[in-house]
Amino acid sequence: TSLFSSVEQGPPIEVFAVNKAFLDDTHPAKVNLSVGAYRTEECKPWVLPVVRDAEKRLAADDSLNHEYLPVLGLESFTQAATSMLLGGSECVAVAEGRAFGIQTLSGTGALRVGAEFLHRQLGYQTFYYSNPTWENHGLLFKNSGFTDARTYRYWNAKTRSIDFDGMYEDFENAPDKSVLILHACAHNPTGCDPTKEQWSKLAQLLKSRPSLFIFFDSAYQGFASGDLERDAYAVRYFAQEGFEFMCSQSFAKNFGLYNERIGNLTLVLRNASQVTPVKSQLTLIVRAMYSTPPNHGARIVSLVLNDPTLYEQWKQCIQTMSSRIKQMRLGLRERLEKLNTPGSWNHITEQIGMFSYTGLNPDQVAHIVSQHHVYLLKSGRINMCGLTTGNLDHVANAIHDAVTK
Ligand code: PLP
Repeated sequence: TSLFSSVEQGPPIEVFAVNKAFLDDTHPAKVNLSVGAYRTEECKPWVLPVVRDAEKRLAADDSLNHEYLPVLGLESFTQAATSMLLGGSECVAVAEGRAFGIQTLSGTGALRVGAEFLHRQLGYQTFYYSNPTWENHGLLFKNSGFTDARTYRYWNAKTRSIDFDGMYEDFENAPDKSVLILHACAHNPTGCDPTKEQWSKLAQLLKSRPSLFIFFDSAYQGFASGDLERDAYAVRYFAQEGFEFMCSQSFAKNFGLYNERIGNLTLVLRNASQVTPVKSQLTLIVRAMYSTPPNHGARIVSLVLNDPTLYEQWKQCIQTMSSRIKQMRLGLRERLEKLNTPGSWNHITEQIGMFSYTGLNPDQVAHIVSQHHVYLLKSGRINMCGLTTGNLDHVANAIHDAVTK
């Protein structure tokens, strides 16, 4: 008998299970719209040319070594990442020295370190995530010690858009000392964000509820609209309105550095005098979790964000990615409208970012997968980057067939 014999099989992680089913499928016309990673028009992963250039420079630099980074990461990276998010010295919190970043293991690691801090140091037990949300928010906060997981309304299936009144009401009714996870832009999976006016209403409400803690999750800055400032609107607005908050940043999508696990956790505090003690507690959390972060991704991002020429080159790269996605949105909508597929399809071009929440039901999804070899999540979420000029007709026909069967 084994000491492990009591271990039960855990549930599969849907996105990886769907991806595996895709890889195992031998059909020549198969299409993968599941995993959230960018693909070129040839359906290939893309190493950003600016990343290649930065890597070559780093490889040629004999002064670099493999010594440990500090526990909270490479400072030239964390400063640049925080400025990219908040807008540099024009942000009062940055100018007053009460905003700072720490390097983390991509966006997931930033959420995890932030959640552990909120639970251990500030005693938060309750957290709210949008219904629906990125599938890892719940597991991650629970594993960080949170005992009370709740959802707030977000998606209105009828209008295929945001249920703002529901969201607002749920925040109004949230018990004191709850953490609210808000997607900074390009909400995953719905692709629908609050408008500026709605952000302002939320800010007014949250000002009257000072024990609710705002945790922004920014996984798509620049990647979503092609414009770094536009995608940072909500976070910068909350900083300007004087809120204290955390924001996880991922450089997986906007730099194409998925497996390098490069992220940043930005904290905006009310008093600069608290920066040192807060950093010391974050240091202890990271020390016990993985001690120090890896350096390759941090060096690349730091080099690019701090070098004006590389920075311009990078902005071109995010333009390339975001415009291809917009083209695919247009292409899919046009085809479905041409086919007269029942329902309205304007949401496909109105949603932003990597994903579209198609509104297809689980039955229709199962039909598309089994009959047409097009792989997507049960929720009807599709990764727009999996679409190419070459497979748009196939995917549109598959959706048409599922909706009309
Ligand atoms: N948050 C959201 C909303 C995401 O969509 C993702 C990735 O898909 C992440 C966080 C974290 O990703 P990573 O840990 O790869 O940076």
